[in-house]
Amino acid sequence: MVFQDLGLDPRLLRSVQHLGFATPTEIQQEAIPAVLVGRDLMVSSKTGSGKTLAYLLPMMQRLLKSRPLSKQDARALILAPTRELAKQVYAQLRLFVSNTPVTAALIVGGENFNDQEKLLKRQPTVIVATPGRFLDHLEHKSVFLQGLEMLILDEADRMLDLGFMPQLNAINKAAEHRLRQTLLFSATLDHTEVDELTVALLKNPFRVALGSGHEQHSDIQQQFIFADNLTHKEALLAHVLKHEPVKQLIIFTATRDDAERLATVCVDNGFSAMGLSARLNQGQRNAVMQQFAAGKYQVLVTTDLASRGLDLLQVTHVINFDLPKHPEEYVHRIGRTGRAGAKGQAISLVGPKDWASLQKIEGFLRRPAEFSEVEGLVARFKGPTEPVEKAGKAAAKSAKSTTKAKHSGKPSAKTVKKAPAKVFFQGGDDGLAPVRRKKTPQD
Ligand code: ADP
Ligand code: MG
Repeated sequence: MVFQDLGLDPRLLRSVQHLGFATPTEIQQEAIPAVLVGRDLMVSSKTGSGKTLAYLLPMMQRLLKSRPLSKQDARALILAPTRELAKQVYAQLRLFVSNTPVTAALIVGGENFNDQEKLLKRQPTVIVATPGRFLDHLEHKSVFLQGLEMLILDEADRMLDLGFMPQLNAINKAAEHRLRQTLLFSATLDHTEVDELTVALLKNPFRVALGSGHEQHSDIQQQFIFADNLTHKEALLAHVLKHEPVKQLIIFTATRDDAERLATVCVDNGFSAMGLSARLNQGQRNAVMQQFAAGKYQVLVTTDLASRGLDLLQVTHVINFDLPKHPEEYVHRIGRTGRAGAKGQAISLVGPKDWASLQKIEGFLRRPAEFSEVEGLVARFKGPTEPVEKAGKAAAKSAKSTTKAKHSGKPSAKTVKKAPAKVFFQGGDDGLAPVRRKKTPQD
């Protein structure tokens, strides 16, 4: 199949051609016709498989071909959980609106409210936004949704995690009419919390799913490494920096403080690195992301702020210095590499404080984590069923560690592969504060 087969407007096809894409990805082939039929949809496929165009193209087609419900109101609203992702989507959208009568606006937190108000007065056809700031404008009556034809939620489940349900409900209520089409996109829509979203927002939805969230991503090599404590994790990080062919690397950690400290560890190891956290002001956040995307530095250290959706094609490695508390975030974090057919490495460090998260991740993935060891940096910690001091000795006795594996659900000593000294990782957060799940949205 080629893009011409999808029956899209020639202006859209020219933009696709400009991107150099000849063939729609699998999810685009499945989702585009389904969106064009006009039904509410839940669309899931692995990270990096082209979901953005799977909604932008049919959305644009509908806006170009059908008569607007209202002359003044926004016709389509795309919501994303973070400012960074909203910006990325907006950048893609701009290409598609060029040479068409469709206009677009980006409305995210951290930027001047009055400027945004002026922008909204010009009645853009499509708005790309983060939910919090968008709702502020809705309440302030700078925008109206009675004529909204399409509501699109990218990384829909993450908005739920971040506590955006009240905003989504309010937006839904403001745009409640039977002609509205609602689309949910994510790599992980098959966990039960998502039901709350689908019940609230979707009417008789059709499901387009290519694979499921727990399926192994064939382009991402995943490794887990035990670590005893924070110092040990830092030594493992230094090992990775020394031995892995890193082009660009994203390190995920639990706290903002850590994001800043680990950036220093990377710099000490000869890598250019920056920390991205919600503590930075919007100008600084923009600068960090722009420079990283432009390859101006090699390592981005961040919290889950950057786990979703960001499409950075030079990222060869992802390190989970701490494991995420929400297991689906693991899938999204590692999905910052191995995008659009490229290969990636994901290394997760597992210390005593990561144990509960590891078990949740194994449950979500429905398979045990595969552990590797780094020569000279082998952890005594192998799981919590025995005191840390004894764990090293116990691991040597295979019978004992097999029993332990049964209890803990982690791989037995036999499945722990001795890896060449070259390959290594990290992924836990000993001694660190738990991830802050914001109840109050940041945007
Ligand atoms: P997802 O949202 O599924 O994680 P994205 O929409 O961010 O994935 O797309 C991942 C990458 O694939 C992007 O760099 C995008 O430009 C590229 N891409 C999208 N569609 C195609 C296509 N049809 N052919 C080749 N590359 C594509
Ligand atoms: Mg995406």
